[in-house]
Amino acid sequence: MQTKKYYQPLSGNEMPRFAGSGTFMRLPAVALSKDLDVGFVGVPVDIATSNRPGARFGPKEIRDESRMLRPFNVSTGADPFNSLSIADIGDVPINTFNLEKTIEIIEQHYDNILAHDVIPLTIGGDHSITLPILRAIHKKHGPVGVIHVDAHADTNDHMFGEKIAHGTPFRRAFEEGLIDGKRVVQIGLRGTGYDPDEYCWSQAQGARVVQAEECWYKSLAPLMAEIRESIGDGPVYISFDIDGLDPAYAPGTGTAEVGGLTVHQGLEIVRGCKGMNIIGGDLVEVSPPYDVSKNTSVVAANLLYEMLCVLPQVNYR
Ligand code: MN
Ligand code: MN
Repeated sequence: MQTKKYYQPLSGNEMPRFAGSGTFMRLPAVALSKDLDVGFVGVPVDIATSNRPGARFGPKEIRDESRMLRPFNVSTGADPFNSLSIADIGDVPINTFNLEKTIEIIEQHYDNILAHDVIPLTIGGDHSITLPILRAIHKKHGPVGVIHVDAHADTNDHMFGEKIAHGTPFRRAFEEGLIDGKRVVQIGLRGTGYDPDEYCWSQAQGARVVQAEECWYKSLAPLMAEIRESIGDGPVYISFDIDGLDPAYAPGTGTAEVGGLTVHQGLEIVRGCKGMNIIGGDLVEVSPPYDVSKNTSVVAANLLYEMLCVLPQVNYR
């Protein structure tokens, strides 16, 4: 029986920020074990993307741009690294020539992570990866609530005839009973659609849809207080598609839509999950080739760190 190790990110005072390992926050790369509480895991998939590709490079680039993150969340008081054993557990060895096999590989990989009682925080990858993750999570937790931030509902029945694509994961998740409709909230939806009632399908499953226009000019802290109340104590998964944010803040993504959320609102959403029973999360759809300034990856790395900070076991100062 090993004792728990509280791994720390490598400090910028020990090794320059632009050097050192390429892990998330320059944490140790650690093999899965029962002693670990949280694992950052990369899923380098973009073969389910409908427009601009490149999300396969997301895990590497987001890890790289996470190098500026320091351990304490000065804004919220969260002290994750002295509360939990947190490490980078590497990437899922997907099959980039075969989406169907890739989806199976991801599910098996997450089965294994969850068998070790490790909370997965996923660095994507396009949004197709959320389906196999939810399949694995359902086996452990049953139907979960979801905080889904996105420009898109991702509830298409198919794309180009394919049932698995980055615009279908929540359709499949609802159909398979992986998620609990009444505890699903989709925030930031907007843009043009194939149907004037684009969001009716989600709503018919019981989900709450908060369109981007309802968020404009506002703090989202009151919305999150309402959601905390309605979502209750059951398990909740966070799925954050970076295109939920406005392309002004997050241009490096495959299917950009104007009029999106601000960075402040993204932070308010994730910070507003404190108090919920968060059992995992992902940050998807960052496409580094379209991210000339690298700001998209900087924002993505910060949002993943904020997800870490709202895990129920984290101490606050
Ligand atoms: Mn999406
Ligand atoms: Mn999207």
